[in-house]
Amino acid sequence: MRIPENQIEFEKMFTTEEQCLDYLKEFRFPKGYLCRKCQHNEYWLNKRGIMVCKNCKSELSITSGTIFHRSKLPLVVIFRAIWWMVAQKNGVSAAGIQRVLGLGSYRTAWAWLHKFRRLMVFPSRNKLSGKIEVDETFVGGKKSGKRGRGAEGKTLVVIAVEILEKGTGRVRMSIISDASKKALKKFITENIETVSIIITDGWKGYNGTSKNGYQHEIQNKTKLLDGEEILPNVHRIASLLKRWLLGTHQNYIGEEYLSYYLDEYTFRYNRRKSNSRGLLFQRLIEQGALHEPVDYKSIKRM
Ligand SMILES: [Zn+2]
Repeated sequence: MRIPENQIEFEKMFTTEEQCLDYLKEFRFPKGYLCRKCQHNEYWLNKRGIMVCKNCKSELSITSGTIFHRSKLPLVVIFRAIWWMVAQKNGVSAAGIQRVLGLGSYRTAWAWLHKFRRLMVFPSRNKLSGKIEVDETFVGGKKSGKRGRGAEGKTLVVIAVEILEKGTGRVRMSIISDASKKALKKFITENIETVSIIITDGWKGYNGTSKNGYQHEIQNKTKLLDGEEILPNVHRIASLLKRWLLGTHQNYIGEEYLSYYLDEYTFRYNRRKSNSRGLLFQRLIEQGALHEPVDYKSIKRM
């Protein structure tokens, strides 16, 4: 499979609807085409992007059963939207994508960006491991802060980040209803390999961490030297996240959608060192080919 490495290559590869369908087909039918009625393996593609069995003439749409199904937008536009979303370091807002692609409707742009976000969590992803800082933070509202201080209208988000010899590795983040032992345990066991070292502050919600199979290190302000901060890495991620929500999306995010923005931020952060935007593009197309259709109502109803 060819991967577009830059804008020029992208433009060449996806000029026509047929080119897009052809690309999508590889992911939709990774083992090749097989007619569902007669098992024949040859087809021709008609102008509507329908595969027609050469033997029994039964029809199969390439986009059926994928996230691209029944789109009002042509694939060339959708592919451009995905490309634009991954090619921009900080992503893009619905208004931004509407302007760049000349879309008539803000609603359409907004809905597609939401569909793309659902492709950003790969089912096969591995849990975090090694040394990991974990902390919670409030997101949204006018002021951001720690638990207990002015929590009105804000959403509590728990963040975990791998600490490497130099810098940080991958992150995970999730909305939690409260900073209780139960909620924190659920996040930790779902996202972090056991035997990892988990570093937290002294909050009592983390009390059971070593019982759950982890090594637990607690950082206290009293043990630190002047100017040293506790949990500096996870705090930095929290402020980067808030800056991103504020910068790219003007913080205009309903709480019901926040988890999808967290998924996008995680996707971007965990791939920040990847030199190939084209590979990210390809992964999203691949995920899209495997993802069931998502209709506007189900996005709006959340
Ligand atoms: Zn057939």
